[in-house]
Formats: sequence, C-alpha cells, structure tokens
Amino acid sequence: MKMSRLGYFSEFLLFPPLLVVATLWAYRSPTPAHPVGLAALYGAGLSAWTLIEYVLHRAVFHHAPILSRIHEAHHHDPQDLIGTPGWASASIGIVVVAGPLCATLGFDFGAAATAGLATGYLWYVFVHYATHHWRPRRNTYLYRARLRHARHHHMSESGNFGVTTGFWDHVFGTALEMPEGRRAEAG
Ligand SMILES: [Zn+2]
Ligand SMILES: [Zn+2]
Repeated sequence: MKMSRLGYFSEFLLFPPLLVVATLWAYRSPTPAHPVGLAALYGAGLSAWTLIEYVLHRAVFHHAPILSRIHEAHHHDPQDLIGTPGWASASIGIVVVAGPLCATLGFDFGAAATAGLATGYLWYVFVHYATHHWRPRRNTYLYRARLRHARHHHMSESGNFGVTTGFWDHVFGTALEMPEGRRAEAG
C-alpha cells in the first residue's frame, strides 16, 4: 500500500509503547521471569526474524496472490513508500505472533520473544528504507545492505532476498555475486 511518510513509519511510533506496556505488565507478576531467560528469548526472536524476513520475501512477496502485486509495485517504483499500515501490522502481530507465543511460552517469555521479533521487523523496515533512500558511506553495514538489495532489484529477482542480512541467502544458495569486473568498482 502506497502511503505518506508518517503512515510508513507509524509502526515506529506504535510498536515501542506496546512493548513498554508488555514489559511493565510482565514485571507486575509476583514471580517475574529471570532477566537472562528474557534476554535469551528476545535474542531468539530477533534472530528468528531474519529467517522470517527471508521466507516472507522469497515465498510470499514474490509468489502469494495480492501481496506479490504490491511487491511488484515496489520493484517497479522502489522509492515509493509502499508498506503495511501500523494498525494492520500491530493487529497481525498480536493475533498471529504475540497471542500464540504467550499461550505456549507464558506471558513473560512470549512477550520477550515478540519484542525480539518486533525489533527485527522494525530493523528490516528501516534498513529497507535506507537501501532505497540513503547513500551510506562505503564499507558500512548499510552500504553492504544497499549493494545486496540493489542486486535483487537490478540483477535478478530470484536472489538476495535477505535485506537485513545476506546470511540466509548463503545458506539457501540464493546469494547473488557481483560480476568480477564490477567488484573492485563497488569496493
Ligand atoms: Zn526494495
Ligand atoms: Zn523483491
């Protein structure tokens, strides 16, 4: 969905307060979970996001009905702000992610894992925006992300599905390497 800058970044305004409320709620419990356990679940959620991002982009954004149309529009006009409205992603997140995770892991650990996943998602939205709108300095994380994602847009749509990391593209054999001659040029 094409949207205003405020709409595009509304998730950055909406998610952190929800996570703060969940954290305060968890600490109201008479037996709060151990911080190390919470940190581990947060880290697990954050790492899991990178795989979800890869699968979503490869299998859903490029093949699922409706969503692939929206993603095609992004490939056509990469600088247009096409994203998910905050209210929609927050509702999907609560029903599909937070609800089942809290039901299986308990509220504390479920909320920590959800917070990790939500951080990963916001990290992805930010990095994807930066790859199309910023010109990062060479040899920085964002510069490599921009190069990697540019190859997905301009070389082949069947590779480099990872936006925040190229790790899963290497694992699943979809990493796009730059032609020899241009490697030095890209530095
Ligand atoms: Zn893109
Ligand atoms: Zn794509």
